[in-house]
Amino acid sequence: MPHSGKKCALKVYMRWPCPPLSKLRIFVYYPAMKRTVFWVFIVCLTAAPIFASPPAAAENPAVYITRSGAKYHTEDCPRLKRSKIEIPLNKAALTHEPCSQCKPPTARPDPNRTAARAQGKAEGNIYKLSAAGLQNSREAETSRMLTAKVAEHIDGDTVRLLFDNPPPAITTRETVRLLGVDTPETVHPKKPVEFFGKEASDFTKTRLLGKNVYIAFDRELRDRYGRLLVYIYTGPGECFNAEIIRQGYAHAYLRFPFQFMDEFKELQREAREKGLGLWGKKP
Ligand SMILES: [Zn+2]
Repeated sequence: MPHSGKKCALKVYMRWPCPPLSKLRIFVYYPAMKRTVFWVFIVCLTAAPIFASPPAAAENPAVYITRSGAKYHTEDCPRLKRSKIEIPLNKAALTHEPCSQCKPPTARPDPNRTAARAQGKAEGNIYKLSAAGLQNSREAETSRMLTAKVAEHIDGDTVRLLFDNPPPAITTRETVRLLGVDTPETVHPKKPVEFFGKEASDFTKTRLLGKNVYIAFDRELRDRYGRLLVYIYTGPGECFNAEIIRQGYAHAYLRFPFQFMDEFKELQREAREKGLGLWGKKP
């Protein structure tokens, strides 16, 4: 080790491994080194927490969804014209896909997502109209739906189905509730039969009982009573859920979001304007 012999206590030098810099030598004087090491240590100590956990906002920024869309967006995406709901990215990523137009940030894979994937396996390839990003119930493809027979009629918005070839998450015989639809009460043990309840119940019975139908789903597979939440199609483009509202036999059920909320609201408005069914004069 070379030694200057003057003021410094220790002199260290180093040859750089790469050729252009091989002539460069770094001289470090020991007292100066002690000070430097001290300050580097202090700086590292202060900065460590900042680098270790970046602010929560950077990792989980807010993104935006619409009431019925299947995508999430950045704040200024033109597709947010109709509605704009702020939601943390990690939450949005569980139920929504990133928009292809505005390219919002994507979430890191997390355990919830893995669980969702496992659930997806049990559900097989069931056709979720929310994930398909459809804007209108007529756009759904019956070729991708499960097929079933309507075995039993319960009331205007509830029937029992016999599935032909269900995936593991669905049994052969299931009680199903129509999505986005609320017909007047007829079978509640404590409530009286509501106005137009009998007619609504009969409408579903005549249109569906004994028929072979196509079944599609939305975000949630079941409600809290374990009933499957479904769209029933009687043929290509023929969504029974939409039909029953169009003809005034049911209200659009807007308490929970579903893919065709805007469409069903519009159908309800038209039925009300025409005074159809339950929108007509009460006796
Ligand atoms: Zn977007």
